[in-house]
Amino acid sequence: MLENVFAARKRLYPQSVKGRFRRLKWMLNTFFLSVFFGLPFIRFERAGDAPDQAVLIDFTHSKAYFFFIEIWPQEVYYLAGILIIAAVALFFVTSLFGRIWCGYACFQTVWTDVFVGFERLFQGDRNNRILLDRRKNFEKFWRKFLTHTSWIIVSLLTGWGFECYFGDAILFTKNIFHGEIDASSLGWILGIAASTYVMSGFAREQVCTYMCPYSRFQSAMFDKNTLIITYDEKRGETRGKMAHGEDFKNRGHCIDCKQCVVVCPVGIDIRNGLQMECIACGLCIDACDNVMEKIGLPKGLIRYDTMDHLLNSIPEKKFKILKPRTFLYGTILTLVCGIMLRNLILKPTLEISAIPDRNPIFVTLSDGSIRNGYTIKISNKTHERKTFGLKISTPSEAILKLQNGDLTALEVAPDDVGNFKVFAILPKDLVAKSDEGRGLLEFVVTDESGKGEQNIQAVFIGK
Ligand code: SF4
Ligand code: SF4
Repeated sequence: MLENVFAARKRLYPQSVKGRFRRLKWMLNTFFLSVFFGLPFIRFERAGDAPDQAVLIDFTHSKAYFFFIEIWPQEVYYLAGILIIAAVALFFVTSLFGRIWCGYACFQTVWTDVFVGFERLFQGDRNNRILLDRRKNFEKFWRKFLTHTSWIIVSLLTGWGFECYFGDAILFTKNIFHGEIDASSLGWILGIAASTYVMSGFAREQVCTYMCPYSRFQSAMFDKNTLIITYDEKRGETRGKMAHGEDFKNRGHCIDCKQCVVVCPVGIDIRNGLQMECIACGLCIDACDNVMEKIGLPKGLIRYDTMDHLLNSIPEKKFKILKPRTFLYGTILTLVCGIMLRNLILKPTLEISAIPDRNPIFVTLSDGSIRNGYTIKISNKTHERKTFGLKISTPSEAILKLQNGDLTALEVAPDDVGNFKVFAILPKDLVAKSDEGRGLLEFVVTDESGKGEQNIQAVFIGK
């Protein structure tokens, strides 16, 4: 029944290939894996008791650290900014170079490459793996056993690497070696390991084709000047097997050897044109270039090219970086990065908010004056203990009282939020003159050095 709805998965046995894009992929894989596993171990000196881990998501204290950037819970808009930058940067790169993110940088591609590497190490290249899968013997068992063991080790390492971003990586790793790990961390490691094992070991190209939404809408970012993987049909056709000593004068250059197909990690034939499944990894280019070299023809029958150039075949028509689409994405990117940078540089180390009491909204005192209660929250975003002063600047007739303590000595611990219960009192004449008994108060918080100052307005209700 279901086979009428879903196409059965064709098992792929991608063949290894040598060439410049394969080398580039290995170099990038090494770089991305080093960044993923190494980043949590980089130390970054911060003042006070703040953690010295350069990149840390600290759920316990609801804070995120990225080198000099610290994000507090009320600053989640930075997260939105980072997501917008990531999305627009992806659109920008895609409009120029097609799906190079998918082919070279996506974690699914990087981890699948590592898994296929171990598969080749223990089971051999394409033909050996095909033959092995047809057998039922002890050799098959131990080769598969070693492959799956290596996959499980990589998956567990991935889970550990992921979890290192959520606590002190060095301490966490030491604790694991001493057999001390809490249930939640263990659960996360096993969960991430299980998904890595399934996605990179089994689902592989299915993730790119069916699960990732990016493959569905990527073509919307392409134009005729986007670099895509192309098969030069004019040069390649009519294809056919190569006869001994053939001079290729009256036929196409494709010798139908299918090397470009067998190396493809998603199992497509690029000679059928650009397809949704193609992740632009360039391995078919390496395979075809090797073939062309062997038979003495120019490389580049399959290549990164633009549709504009390919269809018109005008040699001087060069790949254009400046075009309306990249200009638009570039402008948005510069704008969002600029706003984020400005906000980060000018980020205040002091923030206040005034939350009015809701029950009772106001109290009439024995002399007729009106009193409103507020909770003043002072966020001390420095790594030192600070003392703040609080007053009301307008209206000048307002009297401010602190429930407990001194208004000129409000202590807030480093990286903490202080809550102070205060009462603002206004004379009854002033309240009577205001619109419907409502007006605005302006609170001013000053830090002990007198340099940091923040104002905030709050509504005063008298009727
Ligand atoms: S590798 Fe090149 S020559 Fe061989 S089938 Fe593919 S396009 Fe044709
Ligand atoms: S067609 Fe070529 S570029 Fe596209 S996924 Fe296959 S090997 Fe990679």
